[in-house]
Amino acid sequence: MNIQSVLGTMPVSELGRTMFHEHLLVMYPGAEYDSTVLFDRDAAIREGTKRLTQLREVYGVKTFVDPCPIELGRDVEAMAAISEQSGVNIVCTTGFYFQPLGLPPYWANSSVVQIAELYIHELEKGVGRTGIRAGGLKCATGSGRISDSERKCLEAACIAQKETGVRIWTHTTDGTCGPDQQEIFASNGVDLGQVVIGHCCESMDRDYHRRIVERGSYIGFDRIGWAQYQSDENRADSLAALVQAGYADQVLLGQDRYTSMRGRYGRPQAAEEVARMEALKREGNWPPPYTHLFTTFFPMMEERGVSEAVLFAMLDKNTLRFLSGGAL
Ligand SMILES: [Zn+2]
Repeated sequence: MNIQSVLGTMPVSELGRTMFHEHLLVMYPGAEYDSTVLFDRDAAIREGTKRLTQLREVYGVKTFVDPCPIELGRDVEAMAAISEQSGVNIVCTTGFYFQPLGLPPYWANSSVVQIAELYIHELEKGVGRTGIRAGGLKCATGSGRISDSERKCLEAACIAQKETGVRIWTHTTDGTCGPDQQEIFASNGVDLGQVVIGHCCESMDRDYHRRIVERGSYIGFDRIGWAQYQSDENRADSLAALVQAGYADQVLLGQDRYTSMRGRYGRPQAAEEVARMEALKREGNWPPPYTHLFTTFFPMMEERGVSEAVLFAMLDKNTLRFLSGGAL
């Protein structure tokens, strides 16, 4: 069984410890036109290399999946450079973000078949002229309801998944629409064990978490550290409840962090959140490091009776089972 990394085809047996949902370079669509904020791509590659090298040397991370949506500044050549220089495998994905923060009109107005053709092209032939192939599919939905265009992208991902056999990473917003995503995948013939429903740790509703896992998908607790969406205390309580209920094998852990952002932070934000980010920037701590999971969240879980062995198994075994398409 093989998987596509940004440096080529690799056997899944070489995945090792895997961060399944983090980012390197990101930008909100339109930032490429912002002449008031200059972007140093070389510096971003150097910083990404430094941070991934630290993850490998200190925490034994061998693989890093960056499921950056196509239009959020996905730069597969930068990923390839960072992978070569850091010695960490990197897997990228194809697929669009949600509205209104992504999904450019050209694609929102395309048909399901046209979108599927793009996804299959990127999975089988590569992104643009780079020859770098995506190793999975990304899907995303907004808050509270799935828009018609988002639905088209999910249906296109179903076609591409069945054609190529890769896994699907989803983005959900405000802890909503996870079960609706599952319904679209299932009704279009996708095995729900091939899907991780992402960002479920934004919801505090334990029935919501149970519905996702009982239907047979992986559940993403993958925004750990993002205080503006949920507190880590609440995430830790929810995760401990899932583990106690016997679902540890279906949990994938991540932080949805990034190394560099081109342009300004393009998402609407509360004033106090902006102030907090600016303060961290002045201290040289923004964007925050990928190591938060190990240094801060794991001890919180141990306080709740979940051992480090169980948590590392989520990064070592669950990711391997998920990425290799194995049954739960
Ligand atoms: Zn993400």
